[in-house]
Amino acid sequence: MNNKELIDKLYKYNSLNKAELLYLLNTINNEDKNYLCEKALKTRTKYYGDKVYVRGLIEFTNFCKNNCYYCGIRCSNKNIERYRLILDKILECAEIGYELGYKTFVLQGGEDPYFTDEKIVEIIKILKEKYSDCAITLSIGEKSYDSYKKFFQAGADRYLLRHETATKEHYEKLHPENLKLINRMECLKNLKEIGYQVGAGFMVESPYQSNENLVEDLLYLKELEPHMIGIGPFIPHHDTIFKNEPTGTLEKTIIMIALTRLLLPKSLIPATTALSTINSNGREAGFNAGANVVMPNLSPTSVRSKYSLYDNKISLGDEAAECRDLIEKKIIAAGFSLDTSRGDNIAWNR
Ligand code: SAH
Repeated sequence: MNNKELIDKLYKYNSLNKAELLYLLNTINNEDKNYLCEKALKTRTKYYGDKVYVRGLIEFTNFCKNNCYYCGIRCSNKNIERYRLILDKILECAEIGYELGYKTFVLQGGEDPYFTDEKIVEIIKILKEKYSDCAITLSIGEKSYDSYKKFFQAGADRYLLRHETATKEHYEKLHPENLKLINRMECLKNLKEIGYQVGAGFMVESPYQSNENLVEDLLYLKELEPHMIGIGPFIPHHDTIFKNEPTGTLEKTIIMIALTRLLLPKSLIPATTALSTINSNGREAGFNAGANVVMPNLSPTSVRSKYSLYDNKISLGDEAAECRDLIEKKIIAAGFSLDTSRGDNIAWNR
């Protein structure tokens, strides 16, 4: 089968085997890529029309007890100023977001021991009481089954936890020994079992990554069937051991988004901040490859530059939640429409 036939097969059956995916990744050319994106866009349109859902992202702490080698806020980085937003500040962010029409708040942070389960539960409960029509998404790393359960019972709707890479050997090159891929995967399984809408995902062209690794990512996602999938290019951070590694490309990221859309047709896929950071048209390219979510930044502007996962991370213009009109304009200009409803996965019923 040639690549065009493989893409047709993928479009029709939403499935390809390992060898087929690897062949496609190894041999894909520009023409194939355009064809792949065309099919991915068609698939997203079939299920989600031209809608782009919007989430307000509150990066509420950059303290982290972990030491992921690629990440700028890892604990051993002594060169960044740490901050955390306490309850009142988080509520202020949410209020601003709500006024702007956002119906999903994503609380993301490092794994910060200050935020005990009790504190997280309190935050969720208060937010849910005030904004019962909104969805709360957590993205605060690996926790026990019981903690996840408590957050869910308090009202959290969704949880983002990228698996980062589905290959054990690769995972070990990106993380210190105490962080284990099986644990991360166990967390994702638990989150699904508890009843969250779950987001997994990975970085594209992270150090040591091969096409075989990317195929493993796709096959893992296909099996897990998460509701949301975050895919962004790896971008080096100057205070990490990977500071001299090359930045992931727009091209490869777009291919991975399109393949993911075709393998998991109903998924919610953000055009990530990392994608916009590496290319000023990254967001639009993401939409045209099947992405259907944006997550502009709702954190107070004074802390935005401190949540420095990677270098030059943008938080202005259409990455800034307060620029809602600009965001909408650019989405319309790209041929899509902004949807400010909760934006649940269409296969979702609680
Ligand atoms: N502590 C939370 C949130 C992590 S930050 C958790 O463990 O899930 C959110 C995502 O940023 C990570 O999952 C990772 O995929 C991405 N990220 C971190 N460093 C990055 C880098 N240097 N380049 C690109 N993406 C990065």
